[in-house]
Amino acid sequence: MININDKQMIRKAIETINKLSQKVDDVKIMHVCGSHEHTICKYGIREVLPDNITVIPGPGCPVCVTTQKEIDTAIYLAENGYTIATLGDMYRVPGSEKSLMEAQSEGYDVRIVYGINDAVKIAKKEGNKVVFVAIGFETTAPTTAAELIGLKNKNDNINFYILNCHRQTPPVMEFLLNEGNVNLDGFICPGHVSTITGLKPYYEPCKKYNAPMVVAGFEPIDVLMAIIMILKQIINREAKVENEYKRVVREKGNVMAQKIMNEVFEPIDIPWRGFPVIKNGGLGLKEEYKKFDIFEVEDIPPIKEKIPKGCICDKILRGEKFPTDCKLFGTVCTPLNPVGSCMVSDEGTCRIFYKYKKFQMNEL
Ligand code: SF4
Repeated sequence: MININDKQMIRKAIETINKLSQKVDDVKIMHVCGSHEHTICKYGIREVLPDNITVIPGPGCPVCVTTQKEIDTAIYLAENGYTIATLGDMYRVPGSEKSLMEAQSEGYDVRIVYGINDAVKIAKKEGNKVVFVAIGFETTAPTTAAELIGLKNKNDNINFYILNCHRQTPPVMEFLLNEGNVNLDGFICPGHVSTITGLKPYYEPCKKYNAPMVVAGFEPIDVLMAIIMILKQIINREAKVENEYKRVVREKGNVMAQKIMNEVFEPIDIPWRGFPVIKNGGLGLKEEYKKFDIFEVEDIPPIKEKIPKGCICDKILRGEKFPTDCKLFGTVCTPLNPVGSCMVSDEGTCRIFYKYKKFQMNEL
């Protein structure tokens, strides 16, 4: 068991990375989790890495990868008589013309909730037509699924729907390895997502693209150990899936959560913000649960996205740029006045860079 606060061990890990780095050329490792980026920025992990080892933040924030079209759809619904129930993080993300917060200030019924169950309570108590903006990866999809199973079984006659923005992570990792513009040498796999999925979803992309993949926890030593494990694989010319976060993540993941998720959702191809359509990148509602899909009950007109001028969230989400490459970072775009989605959520790369005052980075 790792003593996560052992400073001696952290020093040793940094020394090991330095030694291993002498045996490799430039190495680019991507992570796909906002919590990993927090650890990296908070503890200055990039600053202690050798110049030839770069850790790149990828599309690891569910709010950030939700498309502008999905946000505009929520706003359209608010403007057309629905109560929109959303998690706090989504409330301030700019749509094409406004955010949900601005729609609320115009008098439309937008409520911040802690979860889908609060949204259901509103529908039951007030009799409104309620739409819950269901975002998140494999970590939150089981909660949505469990609530919908309950509603279906009880057959409650309430006007409750979801705007389904759930996505699954491994397909976007595969896209980045196959079609991304950055030559990635390996992935630090997301600890929270892997708690649910286990290691299985990584085996195929790891083998197919010869990419080392290490599931890591969120302490500084976890991230450093994951980098060591990836470097060792590269030096040994191996590509395998390893689990650094054994104290939490099991090989098979959370089987019960997977069962619940699979009862309600099935993989679908959908676009992510900054990406084209990702094969199997989304979780669509199965036929028996389609009655909860707002698109089944409401004729929503086509919405054209207007990406804010100067915002490079797309490139940041694809790992092609750091926030500090954006001319608006920290000046025009701040957490109080976000221009793009990556500056809004606590999991957004721009927001994290801003929080830890990372105003300068070397070029990727
Ligand atoms: Fe977009 Fe703001 Fe990040 Fe620039 S700093 S990429 S405008 S979110």
